[in-house]
Amino acid sequence: SAGTGRYPADAPASEALFDRALAIVPGGVNSPVRAFRAVGGTPRFMVRGEGPWLYDADGRRYVDLVCSWGPLILGHAHPEVVEAVREAATLGTSFGTPTPGEVELAAEIVDRTPVEQVRLVNSGTEATMSAIRLARGFTGRSKIIKFAGCYHGHSDGLLAAAGSGVATLGLPDSPGVTGAAAGDTIVLPYNDLTAVEAAFAAQGPDIAAVITEAAAGNMGVVAPRDGFNSRLAALAHTHGALLIVDEVMTGFRVSRSGWHGIDPSDADLWTYGKVMGGGLPAAAFGGRAEIMSRLAPAGPVYQAGTLSGNPLACAAGLATLRLADDALYRRLDDTAAVVGRLAADALAAAGVPHRLSYAGSMFSIFFTDADVVDYDSARTQQVPAFKAFFHAMLAAGVYLPPSAFEAWFVSAALDDAALEHIAAALPDAATAAA
Ligand code: PLP
Repeated sequence: SAGTGRYPADAPASEALFDRALAIVPGGVNSPVRAFRAVGGTPRFMVRGEGPWLYDADGRRYVDLVCSWGPLILGHAHPEVVEAVREAATLGTSFGTPTPGEVELAAEIVDRTPVEQVRLVNSGTEATMSAIRLARGFTGRSKIIKFAGCYHGHSDGLLAAAGSGVATLGLPDSPGVTGAAAGDTIVLPYNDLTAVEAAFAAQGPDIAAVITEAAAGNMGVVAPRDGFNSRLAALAHTHGALLIVDEVMTGFRVSRSGWHGIDPSDADLWTYGKVMGGGLPAAAFGGRAEIMSRLAPAGPVYQAGTLSGNPLACAAGLATLRLADDALYRRLDDTAAVVGRLAADALAAAGVPHRLSYAGSMFSIFFTDADVVDYDSARTQQVPAFKAFFHAMLAAGVYLPPSAFEAWFVSAALDDAALEHIAAALPDAATAAA
């Protein structure tokens, strides 16, 4: 059976599906972290979502604190989003021509964010990969700086540094990434301006861009130190390089624009994804017209996509953003504060070492006593404690990210009943982690 024994699933439908999937899909999943490798046990196959709840193939329900890894700020199957998608689908699913919806979505993004022009793509990976190509095309330089523990999708040059120790040696992180692709990536510790200064001093004329998560969410949530992003922009500009701020996770989640609404910086390019697609595949990159106009067909830097600006994705994104007003963001802030506090109080009562870490309404809990400011300190976590906590929460009907190094995501659909369900699950889960 697919179950790993230590955490019996007692979820026969998921077990059967996972057994089938394992035979025909590598690792049984279409994106690695879904597989529960970090926590053990059998992933739950979900069949339905409604508001704050997810329902699995065995008919169990869970309060969802993953929200499809960030997109669903309104919760599952919000009626207005569903209706917008239904209406768009009725008119045809894809035309491969310009459409009114993509102009509307681009206008909404330009209105909310610092970008003057925006190009729509299908995934965050495409957005960051294309922003880097554009930065290289604009500056005529090759190297990029990225920070250890920051994830920007799985394109070669960015994966070359998404976390393992070999990455810091300039070696590829993954078989299949060439040394040449990895060799143009300089990996530095997050929140460490001295390291950035040193890299620019040593290699400045070769550096096209610095890319950073607007606030780190892929090693768990680690906010940038005060002034970190601004100083990155200043350093990049002094040396003729660009700053790319990756708001794929934070964009339209932590404020009307994203992290920029909390901690603005003078970056050159921004990337977006997740929330702007309302649960369908849509992402974007944008910046000043002077830079964006270098993109084909306005300029020579090539970038394209059969399904870019897809009408269904634009409809879902627009419906979501149109409901995302100031009141919605206040609700997300409040809800994140409540959920984080409930979890931290339960862990404290059980004597489990932990740190509650916020970047706006994005947060996670590190199972450590250490101050977490970068990837090294994030990795001081007691992963076994998280695993025990995760499985106790899962058994009690709360779906947390199945890794200690991921953000927890709330939606505005988390109502009192869902919050009470979380609160009821926490004491036993905290005891299990102790
Ligand atoms: N950038 C950041 C900050 C992300 O969190 C992610 C995905 O989690 C990506 C880029 C890649 O986005 P996608 O998974 O849509 O390719």
